[in-house]
Amino acid sequence: MAEIKVLKDILEANQQAAEENRERFRRQGIFCVNLIASPGAGKTSILEKTIAGLCYTFRFACIEGDITGEHDARRICSLGVPVVQINTEGGCHLSAAQVGRALDEFDLKKTDVVLIENVGNLVCPAEFDLGEHMKIVVLSTPEGDDKPAKYPVIFSEAGAVLVNKVDLMDIVDFRLERATTDIRKVNPDAPVFEVSAKTGQGFIEWFNWFKKKVFEAKGHNHNSSR
Ligand code: MG
Ligand code: ZN
Repeated sequence: MAEIKVLKDILEANQQAAEENRERFRRQGIFCVNLIASPGAGKTSILEKTIAGLCYTFRFACIEGDITGEHDARRICSLGVPVVQINTEGGCHLSAAQVGRALDEFDLKKTDVVLIENVGNLVCPAEFDLGEHMKIVVLSTPEGDDKPAKYPVIFSEAGAVLVNKVDLMDIVDFRLERATTDIRKVNPDAPVFEVSAKTGQGFIEWFNWFKKKVFEAKGHNHNSSR
């Protein structure tokens, strides 16, 4: 029972920090996404493509969560986007407090979108609210079409799902129909985008949807504070 109590306290503290982050995003009219996927699904590649495609429309800032190292942060930094690396030193998810400290490093007045790349893991990032507007889940075809059935919680919380590496679909016998059906079972409303960060397939649709979400977050701000 003691362990259950500890977990409850951790989640409550995290929730409080998440609400503080959410309030900061709301005040500044910033749209924040929490990108979640298994290792190797292509999170960083999708961020690179999204930044490259929309950097003339929006000012981005990026938080890179990794167990160790700065490899992904360097990739994003080379695009000229402010980036903060969080190393969890073994931790398998980002916490809202870590994100809050990273936000201190950005000029939020000059930011439209905060992209958070969570640690590669489909399990516990589902439990830890970071204050984001939405979780975006990336599923790559080589991982298998059974992932939505095996990890339903994270898919049920997704604001959108990106099925990445669709150019490999036939080679790896990924049945899109099966994956989509299982996503729909737990999450009837989230759009499912079929993309390839390698070929660029499907990114126009993703960009159009993403833009709408950023403008919604901004509009909310105009109506309330400024
Ligand atoms: Mg990455
Ligand atoms: Zn974890």
